[in-house]
Amino acid sequence: MNYKEISELIYPSLPHTPEEYETIYPPRDLPEGAMVTRLGPSPTGFIHLGNLYGAFVDERLAHQSGGVFYLRIEDTDDKRYVENAVETIIGSLDFFDIRFDEGVTETGDIGDYGDYTQSHRGEIYRTYARKLLEQGLAYPCFLTEEEITAIREEQEAQKIAPGIYAGWSKYRDWDKDEEIEAEVVSKIKAGVPFVIRLRSKGVPNASAEETARHTVVDGIRGELSVPDNFLDVVIIKQTGIPTYHFAHVVDDHLMRTTHVVRGEEWLPSLPIHVELFEDLGWELPVYCHTAQLMKIGEDGNKRKLSKRHDPELSLDFYRKEGYHPAAVREYLLTILNSNYEEWRMDNPDAPAEDFKFTTEKMSSSGALFDLDKLNDVSKNTLLHIDARELAEWLKLWSDEFAPEYGYVFRDMDHLAKILDLGRHDARPRADLVYAKQIMDFIGYFFDEAFKIKDDYPAEAAADAKEILNAYLESYDHSDDNEQWFGKIREIAVKLGYAAKPKDYKKNPDDYKGHVGHVSTVIRIALMGRAQSPDVWAIQQIMGEEKVRARIEAALR
Ligand code: GLU
Repeated sequence: MNYKEISELIYPSLPHTPEEYETIYPPRDLPEGAMVTRLGPSPTGFIHLGNLYGAFVDERLAHQSGGVFYLRIEDTDDKRYVENAVETIIGSLDFFDIRFDEGVTETGDIGDYGDYTQSHRGEIYRTYARKLLEQGLAYPCFLTEEEITAIREEQEAQKIAPGIYAGWSKYRDWDKDEEIEAEVVSKIKAGVPFVIRLRSKGVPNASAEETARHTVVDGIRGELSVPDNFLDVVIIKQTGIPTYHFAHVVDDHLMRTTHVVRGEEWLPSLPIHVELFEDLGWELPVYCHTAQLMKIGEDGNKRKLSKRHDPELSLDFYRKEGYHPAAVREYLLTILNSNYEEWRMDNPDAPAEDFKFTTEKMSSSGALFDLDKLNDVSKNTLLHIDARELAEWLKLWSDEFAPEYGYVFRDMDHLAKILDLGRHDARPRADLVYAKQIMDFIGYFFDEAFKIKDDYPAEAAADAKEILNAYLESYDHSDDNEQWFGKIREIAVKLGYAAKPKDYKKNPDDYKGHVGHVSTVIRIALMGRAQSPDVWAIQQIMGEEKVRARIEAALR
């Protein structure tokens, strides 16, 4: 039996030839330089920061260049399928403003290059597997698990590379041995399960100097010298489903992907992909292998973010805590491109989309993720969002994740004023970080959340009642900031406190404390805490009634 005959025995009828697929999925008609990128998540339902990081690169490359960004579902590993995973993926990315132009959507595929779900593409993979079989570039392999284990043990004993390659699977050269040929043919006819393996052209276990190398340009890492593959990797599993390697090559060719952005964990498989592209006579896409997300661990060393130990790896974390998507995007850009922060300083008000993102400015050695830094970025990002808009956004967050804060949203104008507090000062206050923190931060405006958290300062604790009584008596809600503070100073002086902190510092024995201690007593009675934005401004938002009620309550 020759190669053609065996390929027909394995795949007797397929609807299209490889040539036909080339015309069904022609090169895309796009402007010069337009990039076509894709996200290929497995539908495991867990979509993490690393996915978002990659998706962001894909999205920027495609949309900056007038290209196409599409979603392909890579469900060739059937064990991992989780219900509603597609909705979760689309929903999570949409939240961060990452939108696809093409591919799988909640209501079906969009685009001319589908089907975009790998498990629906069986015929296509089989067509190309048949092509490789026909050319003798692939072969059916009947090795059992036990045989494969025995081979690995023998290879370990010989201290050579593990795996199936020339010299290790008797099925590789079935056409050169009549007995094996007969076995192969009868097994195929009898329906015995088998895999299809690449018949690699590489020389097994060649020394580093002898190994042929290919130069592959990586968008992030520059020129890579990729050694020849020699492994007869499985391309079609026993179930008829392709492996990642084969599906990647076939899909990214037929879907006309120009840039394959994927994690660096795929770098070791690159030799296999180079060989497969070559065997199929196709041009390599530009690979962009992104660095792992790292963090500084408890011991001070860099380590990979892990699903088990780092809740911040899950995108749900950001949604539940209520990080504004613009803040997360802004932060991701700072870790994605080393020159972003500088650009941001020069362009504080420009939309992030104006930044020219490039893969060359990406780190190839592990992008460092730092929650504190995200919080800092977030503070600044929120400053640029209009208070009313922020209020609306917080409400959406609360409706979905934290309905217990419903009382915050009874009066949206009131909330907008609260959020705007101190944001227009010469040095704007950047107190707001993420929704949960904001709920806590502004909690004192609402009786439902108001709690006395701090103690009166020691210098003034004994006089607290007297201070508050005097304050209540002199309080006039229409006083301006200066008049209001003048009255506090009077109270302070009357009770034996210095009118200015520096007087107290100079002669501490002459006073019980200073005006700051007195005003802190008032602050704590009103807000429950020793730190807050400007008290006068807060009172104006709270309204006279609440101000008086709080002081009275503290006097009880
Ligand atoms: N399905 C692969 C994964 O889940 C995607 C890798 C790629 O983008 O090529 O990691």
